[in-house]
Amino acid sequence: MSAKRLTERKLIENISYMLHYDRIEMRGSGYAFDCNKDGTLRSMTKAGAANLIYCQEHPAEYHPPHVEEYVHSYWEPATAQCRCGHVITLDGDAPCGSCGQWHNAFGQELRPPREWGEETGERFDDNGNYIGGGDDDC
Ligand SMILES: [Zn+2]
Repeated sequence: MSAKRLTERKLIENISYMLHYDRIEMRGSGYAFDCNKDGTLRSMTKAGAANLIYCQEHPAEYHPPHVEEYVHSYWEPATAQCRCGHVITLDGDAPCGSCGQWHNAFGQELRPPREWGEETGERFDDNGNYIGGGDDDC
């Protein structure tokens, strides 16, 4: 039996921008400040503000400031409804947080980990961690 699928797995992308002041003499060093796409600075700490003022007051030490785009992405796992009604995240083999029923990443119900490895001789603890047995344990 499978859990009822509620949402599909999806790629989440977040884009952020940093205003860079790169040092002329020490390549690869400098400062970067959180900003919008157009270079408008966001809030910063007192130390960050002091660094920005230093960069602005010493233009001979830095290349002209420029905005760089950063794309951060990750996969948001699918969700499903366990037979007990609890919403579960389908992110590998895991137990339902309410009733303890195990599911795989597709939402299929699994037997408890202590019953896994019957054919291979492998053993797993109650958290699904491999604890021994099988061909690798000679
Ligand atoms: Zn459940």
